[in-house]
Amino acid sequence: MTELLASFSGPAGWLKAGGFNLPGNRSTVKLINPRDRKSRKNSFMTYSIQIHQTGGPEVLQWEETQIGTPEAGQVRIKQTVVGLNYIDVYHRTGLYPVPRPFVPGMEAAGVVDLVGEGVSHLKQGDRVAYASVLGAYTEQRIIAADRLVKLPDTISDKTAAAMMLQGMTARYLIRDIYKVGPGDTILIHAAAGGVGLIICQWAAALGATVIGTVSSEEKAALAKANGCHFPIIYTREDFQARLLEITGGEKLAVVYDSVGRDTFMKSLDCLRPRGLMVLFGASSGPIPPFDLSILSQKGSLLITRPTLATFIATKALLEENSAELFDVVSSGKVKIHVNQSYALKDAVQAHRNLESRKTTGSSVLIV
Ligand code: NDP
Repeated sequence: MTELLASFSGPAGWLKAGGFNLPGNRSTVKLINPRDRKSRKNSFMTYSIQIHQTGGPEVLQWEETQIGTPEAGQVRIKQTVVGLNYIDVYHRTGLYPVPRPFVPGMEAAGVVDLVGEGVSHLKQGDRVAYASVLGAYTEQRIIAADRLVKLPDTISDKTAAAMMLQGMTARYLIRDIYKVGPGDTILIHAAAGGVGLIICQWAAALGATVIGTVSSEEKAALAKANGCHFPIIYTREDFQARLLEITGGEKLAVVYDSVGRDTFMKSLDCLRPRGLMVLFGASSGPIPPFDLSILSQKGSLLITRPTLATFIATKALLEENSAELFDVVSSGKVKIHVNQSYALKDAVQAHRNLESRKTTGSSVLIV
């Protein structure tokens, strides 16, 4: 007789999902031989959120699953805090397709529990975190060791789980794709959200003028208190007209648009000739098919559709990115606002709140 062992993280490898590369997750099911004493001794039950069918928040199901031992190059971690991100919604709804069943979630913090062969940079008891590895909504998991970074004492598990994905995204957007500096004016949509609040603070610390869109007075006040010099309530005002008022008619060298369908065309009109459109999300839905000749009509615009996975694709890149994030947060220049916390098993409510624009800053699921 055999029994099923669910292993949420296969050996490193990349899984194409809706144009995104999702490293190290294959939601594999392994066959365990019950006579194999070693396997049985180290395998036990854990709880995870599973998705069997894509759909609304109600498809997130709290289920018991079996976890085994790490293979070569892997470690087993006991997770303490899981990060909530908008990409979790895209996976749940099927906008970014993932083979089912799967465990959603892309980041978490926790403690190394068991180390597989050949792993020399981590040991039992190390505090670690990761981002952009599918399968995070779980109490414990097995994961490729080279996807983990050790946490410094200055970064709590809660802060790490809240910021690894959003913070490293903010970093590549304003420090890599376009190097924001003094003299720049940038537009960031959803400025009071997870990525938004980090970009506002970080770009302001780099000397830029930040214009940000938000959907309410409360969000405008929060963005303003966190480096956004000019919040615009885009649900009430025409954000392009207001932006031109603020800048005295000057258009911008760069626009960061994660809202997508509702803002994209107007965002293009905020760019000066040869300006850069960074489309990095689709919170309001994906943009319809786009005619590239519009870029020439609007003044030889540049456009990119980036994803964090590319910017942390190797261990060296991951370490470089996370180290810069840890520094800026430890220095106090960027504060991580964890404004919503839920128990992991209450992920349904967390998704409802995120999708209905009720959240500000970052959200976490406590294990
Ligand atoms: P947020 O906390 O920013 O939440 C999304 C926000 O989008 C909402 O709070 C809301 O702010 C705004 N929004 C606008 N229109 C809608 C709508 N129709 N429905 C729901 N929300 C809407 O989420 P994250 O910080 O996790 O992510 C922000 C964006 O960045 C997402 O689009 C995400 O996919 C993207 N992202 C991309 C990455 C990449 O590498 N490409 C990596 C990480 C995130 P308001 O109420 O103020 O309008």
